[in-house]
Amino acid sequence: MPLVTNQPPMASPVMTAKLSFESQPQHELVAEAMADLTHAGLAGDLAFDETTRRLFATDASEYQELPVGVVWPDTHDDVRKIVSWASRHQVSLIPRTAGTSLAGQCVGAGLVMDFSRHFRRILNIDPVNRRVTVQPGVIRNELNAALATHGLLFGPETSTANRAMIGGMVGNNSCGSNSIIYGSTRDQLVRLRGVLSDGSEVVFGPLSAEEFHEKCAGATREAEIYRAIRDLLQDAGNRAEITREYPLASIPRRNTGYALDLLMQCSVFDPGSSEPFNFCRLIAGSEGTLFVTTEIELQCNPLPPPHQALLVGHFSSLEQSLRANLVALGFQPSACELIDKHILDCSRENLDLARKRDFLVGDPAAILVIEFRRDTETALQETLLALESALRNADLGYAFPTLRGSDSSKVWDLRRAGQAVINNVTGHNKPREVAEDTAVDVQSLPDYIRDFEALMKKHGIDCVYYGHAATGELHMRPIFSLHSAEGVRMFRAVAQDVATLVKSYRGSLSGEHGDGRLRGEFLRQMIGERCYDMVGVVKRTFDPLNILNPGKIFEAPPMDESLRHTPGTPPPAWNTVFDWKGDGGMTAAAEKCNGAGECVRTHLSGGTMCPSYMATRREEDSTRGRANLLRQLMTERGKTALQSDELHRVLDLCLGCKGCKSECPSNVDLARLKAEFLEAYHDRHGIPLRSRIIANFDAINRLARLAPWAWNAIFGTPILRKAANRLAGFHPLRSIPLLPRETLRSWFSHHQADAAAGQRGEVYLFADEFTNFLDSAIGIKTVQLLERLGYRVTIPDHVESGRSSLSKGLLKKARHLARQNVRRLHPLITDRKPLIGIEPSAFLGFRDEYPDLLRGDEQRQARELASHCLMLDEFLLREFSAGRLTNDVFRECSRVIRLHGHCHQKALTGISPTVRALELVPGHDVRLIASGCCGMAGSFGYEAEHYALSQEIGELVLLPTVRQEPKTSAICAPGTSCRHQIHDATGRRAQHPAEILWEALG
Ligand SMILES: Cc1cc2nc3c(=O)[nH]c(=O)nc-3n(C[C@H](O)[C@H](O)[C@H](O)COP(=O)(O)OP(=O)(O)OC[C@H]3O[C@@H](n4cnc5c(N)ncnc54)[C@H](O)[C@@H]3O)c2cc1C
Ligand code: SF4
Ligand code: SF4
Repeated sequence: MPLVTNQPPMASPVMTAKLSFESQPQHELVAEAMADLTHAGLAGDLAFDETTRRLFATDASEYQELPVGVVWPDTHDDVRKIVSWASRHQVSLIPRTAGTSLAGQCVGAGLVMDFSRHFRRILNIDPVNRRVTVQPGVIRNELNAALATHGLLFGPETSTANRAMIGGMVGNNSCGSNSIIYGSTRDQLVRLRGVLSDGSEVVFGPLSAEEFHEKCAGATREAEIYRAIRDLLQDAGNRAEITREYPLASIPRRNTGYALDLLMQCSVFDPGSSEPFNFCRLIAGSEGTLFVTTEIELQCNPLPPPHQALLVGHFSSLEQSLRANLVALGFQPSACELIDKHILDCSRENLDLARKRDFLVGDPAAILVIEFRRDTETALQETLLALESALRNADLGYAFPTLRGSDSSKVWDLRRAGQAVINNVTGHNKPREVAEDTAVDVQSLPDYIRDFEALMKKHGIDCVYYGHAATGELHMRPIFSLHSAEGVRMFRAVAQDVATLVKSYRGSLSGEHGDGRLRGEFLRQMIGERCYDMVGVVKRTFDPLNILNPGKIFEAPPMDESLRHTPGTPPPAWNTVFDWKGDGGMTAAAEKCNGAGECVRTHLSGGTMCPSYMATRREEDSTRGRANLLRQLMTERGKTALQSDELHRVLDLCLGCKGCKSECPSNVDLARLKAEFLEAYHDRHGIPLRSRIIANFDAINRLARLAPWAWNAIFGTPILRKAANRLAGFHPLRSIPLLPRETLRSWFSHHQADAAAGQRGEVYLFADEFTNFLDSAIGIKTVQLLERLGYRVTIPDHVESGRSSLSKGLLKKARHLARQNVRRLHPLITDRKPLIGIEPSAFLGFRDEYPDLLRGDEQRQARELASHCLMLDEFLLREFSAGRLTNDVFRECSRVIRLHGHCHQKALTGISPTVRALELVPGHDVRLIASGCCGMAGSFGYEAEHYALSQEIGELVLLPTVRQEPKTSAICAPGTSCRHQIHDATGRRAQHPAEILWEALG
């Protein structure tokens, strides 16, 4: 076929390029088209409002563009209708699943078609033929959980496997650390069902040469496509050009352009080949630009060999680690991944990852994580020893710890978080996606990296290195700012230089993340003029109107257009109550979200972040959605953004659980951002009555204690309680805790200290407002426990913690309380006389919020005080490890304890101190409930409009687990609201760890 060269650029769909909120005529045009779509009778959902458009304006890349709207199709027929509509109105469509693409694949001005909400079913598992058929919105790890029961596995694994969906993995032809064994998604694809750009339905699957030629006949779009490919690839000149220009076939990871090089290897074009023709090979990696997928059939692998271990090689230079990689490949590893010093250093600053670094020896410049799987333990052991000795003999590396089981999971967690954790740096100089996905022949990797380092030197910039060393692909992220014009110039210059360098190695500019709009501009250079034209022919035949994800791969806009940040515009600054200096300002704190989407995973992945998303599965209820909206509005409107009702609505379902503070690899702290937002919002709109009631918990309880019988009569009588709840804005079904006979403080004022008190030391106990007024029995047992263990207990003079004010955004009041507590407690509290807390949410404010609520000398004092504030379990462990306590103080108590950790505790101290403290009792069998948030989150679950969501969150894991637990097990929950939620929903009384330890005293 004569190649059509110098074709005019493809027409842009009319509505996509120009739409903005301001352009009125476009609005009318859009409104007309949207009305048409609304009347199309979709089973799914549609949204065109400004907030939704903003939420879907980004993915995990540097790009941002407002889409015209978002549609969530529900059925295959919906997809057909939407594509036909788009074709009629020439509106472009941007298919999307989890939106974790790194090259801007999901960013565009058209209509986002999101498959994550309704296309989540596994349609069929065929264990005999090892096949599975899924909808595009099935999450990779959840698919594997279902396959595991059949002894099967879908191999390709991205670092985002706990949220990335199969549709997106096909779109980007994703793969991961184990690609030496399982290849990429393309290699597992059998059949795809979906819709072509004219709305016609099609199934792509394996075809013999005869079937292929039959498909070429007819007047359908499908037949045209088959004919076009036939004409292109039958041409020997075209095939020779592809062989000459495409990346080397020895590079297994090649995501450059459309995979014409692979398509021409089938029996239709290569008589020596037995491989059937399959368009799936082309669709994989085509980034939604050719076809919309509704069903995916995959082949599966048997589960990997059962014996697994990691050898973690430690190296004093990057170059050494790359040479060691070549040695390791001789031992058939299942993965060989590189992590450099930058990432290891950043992981120190992340609360969650910092706990996973204990395998490291010294301060390596780079580590190689080399995984082996073998059928027997002996074979595994032999391989580990042989590799270590080979590395030592070659003088490569200085330490080689081996890890198994949960220890190896820690290393993988660190590796997976690598991409996101490096973003957690103050200021705008961040590691950038610009050259983060190149692949070369693995034997050339050391030379290539040497040249790459020279290039970085030429530009005067530092760079982060990590990734899939085994397959010649490293993620290199040069560090610079995209907030300055100079940074944007650097963005282009580096991209251009790297493209030239990769071409000189006949490498692939993309190994797994795809071309998107980041690398699309360089495709012509990477594959040459003639191959680029072939790519154009493919695109035009599949999608003559250019409605399917335009501007990705082919005819991409300039790579420095539509960036998230406008260069030269410093983030607006204003006076805040919290000190945001550590983050570089409040806007910068929201900007830390890079869209990687760790917060859009489901409860099946474990963890706390983000409970509201886990329950609703809506972008606006995720940490990412909230951070994105905050960032966009604050950047555009400065402080006035904080008066926005739109933001108020989106932040409303944030429970303030702090799950994100530790589990978001970039440490986006939405609870704090929301509190600061509410403070400013109240300045403009006033403080609602209910917020005042909640923030005055302490004062209200003081009043109630004047007539506790009256309080208990009202809240102990269902009809009165419901009426009172309604008046206050609480849900009528929510019980309100009754007041105990006396408060902790009043009991303490007349109690007789135990004879042992003071023998081992002295402590101060923080009588927080929740324990003091409602859970005094727990406070009393804590005092008795500490005294029996030999500590003199003093309840010092202090005010309430301020937690209720913090949660309702009354920050000035919280600051006032923090100041008083710091003034009163700082002179008393020392390492030898620490302050002990019982209720995590109230007490951990000393360590988390207080230092940032204060300034100057008070801030310094708050920090000093924080270092001597210990939760009861942390204190006990400290005393045991110092040898001042031994566990013979407890009697043997044989029982199972099911523990649910409080979110703030999980975020700030981790739950392991509680587990270990409970395990001090001989016979305790402590089992963590794999729950996230209980759903109550302070006052959240009481509030009328939040009650249902609170229940939904609790029902994800915690509540059903508690219901199933035999009555002989103790349920343990350190948080007062968690205990309340458990009691309301299951009727079971959960105990505080102090009560359980008290019961075990000898
Ligand atoms: C921190 C981090 C680590 C990563 N690590 C890896 C890694 O190890 N390996 C790797 O390969 N990638 C990695 N990625 C990139 C990304 O996560 C993967 O490409 C992932 O598979 C994308 O899945 P998704 O569900 O987010 O897809 P999306 O980003 O939503 O979509 C991906 C592409 O598929 C298209 N698409 C989606 N649904 C359809 C449909 N129904 N029909 C047609 N086209 C569709 C979209 O238009 C888009 O072009 C990483 C990204 C991040 C942020
Ligand atoms: S909030 Fe954190 S986890 Fe979520 S997308 Fe942003 S950076 Fe990733
Ligand atoms: S504080 Fe909790 S609910 Fe709010 S965004 Fe973070 S993880 Fe989600």
